[in-house]
Amino acid sequence: MKTVLFSLTDAELQKFITDLGEPKFRASQIRDWLNRGAPDFNSMKNIPVMLREKLDAVAQTMPVKIVKKLVSGDGDTTKFLLELNDKEQIECVLMRTTYGNSVCVSSQAGCAMGCKFCASTLLGLKRNLTVDEIFSEILVAQWELRGCESGKQIHANGDPNNNDVSHIVVMGTGEPLQNTENVIGFLERANHDLNISWRRMTVSTCGIVPGIYDLIKWGRPINLAISLHAPVDELRSTVMPINNKYKIAEVLKAADEFTKLHNRQLMIEYILLGKNGKNGETELYNCTPEYAEMLAKLLTGKNCMVNLIPWNAVDERDFASPSGNAVHRFQDILIKNGIHCRIRRERGTDIGSACGQLRLNNKKD
Ligand code: SAH
Repeated sequence: MKTVLFSLTDAELQKFITDLGEPKFRASQIRDWLNRGAPDFNSMKNIPVMLREKLDAVAQTMPVKIVKKLVSGDGDTTKFLLELNDKEQIECVLMRTTYGNSVCVSSQAGCAMGCKFCASTLLGLKRNLTVDEIFSEILVAQWELRGCESGKQIHANGDPNNNDVSHIVVMGTGEPLQNTENVIGFLERANHDLNISWRRMTVSTCGIVPGIYDLIKWGRPINLAISLHAPVDELRSTVMPINNKYKIAEVLKAADEFTKLHNRQLMIEYILLGKNGKNGETELYNCTPEYAEMLAKLLTGKNCMVNLIPWNAVDERDFASPSGNAVHRFQDILIKNGIHCRIRRERGTDIGSACGQLRLNNKKD
């Protein structure tokens, strides 16, 4: 197994380099490249080619390798398929938006939660990601934003200063609160090393209650998103097995405590699911007007924002996307009841990187 230089301490890196018979200062040059997200030694332009080759034979830069890179038609979304050292694959997505450059990271290889509408859980959980692995997802995006590889700068929205990752959402493959320690370690590192503020970080959970209390204990004022998807337990349990363990009331109570502590607005994610009806029409599943009324009642008085996400098709899943009309009707009822909500703009649907589409496409090709 090759040594992952990114995971060495400065002292270890120095020893590694001097053991190869190289001068010490190369270690700090290499560290600089590693911090910028250099995917390979060949990108390290101030390192002699001979040394680059020598390093390549015994070491690797990060604990992930880029297997595939897909860019959406509008150029705003880039999806990376990454391979870990044990050959598991994960995905991360860079989104260039009007408010900054946001990276959606995976926290696990696969997922154990079994949500009925989601593609990420189809192959089950492989394993938790380490802090270094999650952090590498950010560095991969950072390297892309700075255009280091090609030498040209890519600026989001024409702003020449806007080529840093500014926002992190832990909403990729996996359930972050099943890997809380490493997710926290990763966020601490992103804050410390990249200066990304807590308020620009969001952790999304399907509702692992003890994990929410772990976040409360941790105490950083990040944003919390709850994947709710139904206003009543009976319905929620049909699409999210985790609801058999933690009921809606319990989840919202923990989330309330979190948001009150930090005076943050709670994010509620709500996928709008339809079913293929007998006569070829789409029947509404969790997004009838009655469910909208129930959702409004459930959330009244809470400081929250509801993100409505029309379901993105996943071949293996037996749902359908509701019509635009149904989506708007659902939203109107929430608004009429004084609930803040918006329909989430999906990014990168054409490259299979919209919500729930993250999957091991490679294995399917
Ligand atoms: N496990 C975490 C984070 C990953 S899922 C969680 O459950 O929150 C990120 C968001 O995408 C969740 O709200 C999830 O429910 C949603 N999602 C999953 N599959 C989807 C699909 N096919 N279409 C739209 N949204 C989906």
